[in-house]
Amino acid sequence: MAVPFRKTSKTKKNQRRSHIKLSVPGMVECPDCGEMKLSHRVCKSCGSYKGRDVASK
Ligand SMILES: [Zn+2]
Repeated sequence: MAVPFRKTSKTKKNQRRSHIKLSVPGMVECPDCGEMKLSHRVCKSCGSYKGRDVASK
């Protein structure tokens, strides 16, 4: 079985993984409080949706 001649350097490894990053799709900034929230979902931190407060009673 073929084996790599050299160990892959940190630089090369990081270059290869440069486009791999943590990202949650559909995350938007809440217009009310500025926290990151899932789009089309009620904001977890301030409980608002479409500018209205829907979570608090
Ligand atoms: Zn919010």
